[in-house]
Amino acid sequence: MQIDFANLAKAYAEHKEDIDKEMKCVVESSSFIMGPQVAELELCLSEFTGVKHAITCSNGTDALLLSMMALGIGQGDEVITTPFTFIATAETIAFLGAKPVFVDIEEQSYNIDVSKVEAAITKNTRAIMPVSLFGQTPDMDSINKIASHYNLSVIEDGAQSFGATYYGKKSGSLSTIGTTSFFPAKPLGCFGDGGAVFTDNDILAEKVKSLRIHGQSKRYHHKYIGMGGRLDSLQAAVLKVKLKNYSTDIKKRQKVAQRYTELLKEFIQTPIVLAGRTSVWAQYSIRVKNREYIQEQLKKRGIPSAVHYPMPLHLQKCFQYLGYKLGDFSISERVSNEIMSLPMNPYLTEEEQNYICKELIAIL
Ligand SMILES: *Cc1c(COP(=O)(O)O)cnc(C)c1O
Repeated sequence: MQIDFANLAKAYAEHKEDIDKEMKCVVESSSFIMGPQVAELELCLSEFTGVKHAITCSNGTDALLLSMMALGIGQGDEVITTPFTFIATAETIAFLGAKPVFVDIEEQSYNIDVSKVEAAITKNTRAIMPVSLFGQTPDMDSINKIASHYNLSVIEDGAQSFGATYYGKKSGSLSTIGTTSFFPAKPLGCFGDGGAVFTDNDILAEKVKSLRIHGQSKRYHHKYIGMGGRLDSLQAAVLKVKLKNYSTDIKKRQKVAQRYTELLKEFIQTPIVLAGRTSVWAQYSIRVKNREYIQEQLKKRGIPSAVHYPMPLHLQKCFQYLGYKLGDFSISERVSNEIMSLPMNPYLTEEEQNYICKELIAIL
């Protein structure tokens, strides 16, 4: 049996007729940039998340950049985040001339350990950037509490968690600013690059909207140093269709995750969803020893797997200048060595999952 990891082909096939129709509409109107689809999608995103302003942009990385630029974060500032995430989280902090300050994760959810955040705050700290890794949010109430005590902003990197909930509220709606990514392999993906910024704050929203289009106030008049950070109309058209069906996709992903856990929990450490949260399962990640051997054996049996992420950010060459060393964040380091993601998409069949789990258990 050959298993598909993310099954993007099926995701298109499911809604082909509607997607083709919406895309054709864009192509025939030639309104490729800032066409009506963009504003329509933004309304739908705002409704879905319950956030006042949903501002689409070029990708999840730029969503982080735009958020921090709107907050005025730059040279001399520090932003607290986790080392166990995709590079973009800390890269964007450094790109703006600010300093990423890492805090280790907690072992259960792989998200930032809130009990360690306060010790990392200095007089230069401007913001906390928690990541909702693998589809579930961190302890946002505690993070917000610390932030408000020290007068810091909170930027949720929700690139993997669009649609996830925290005590009934949606990811993106839980802090000063939230971001997400519509990269094809994310839970809600488009047919290229895409992202969004969410905020209830009118002033920040206006600034993000201006920054994503070269900081302009009106055409050829520029109030800020901004960037070319728009989402294009074709991606908006695709996302409009996919968002309509997204709640069903989430339920299917949750069902797949539940089935994995039932089949595997006696044999291996399966992921945990903490109290008050639902996950959108951007990844279904288990912990193994001998990861390389297991991946190789799975591959021989037609089962793809992936590692998110093999090296924590404090050990990356590009962050050497920050002065961190091996041993500084022991949980992130250990998890990086053991974590392994299994195929995850809404279309995995029971038969496929039985096969994956049977083979994995045999290999173990
Ligand atoms: C994917 C991802 C990003 C970046 O999103 P892009 O759309 O690829 O730029 C940022 N943070 C995290 C945690 C991600 O998984």
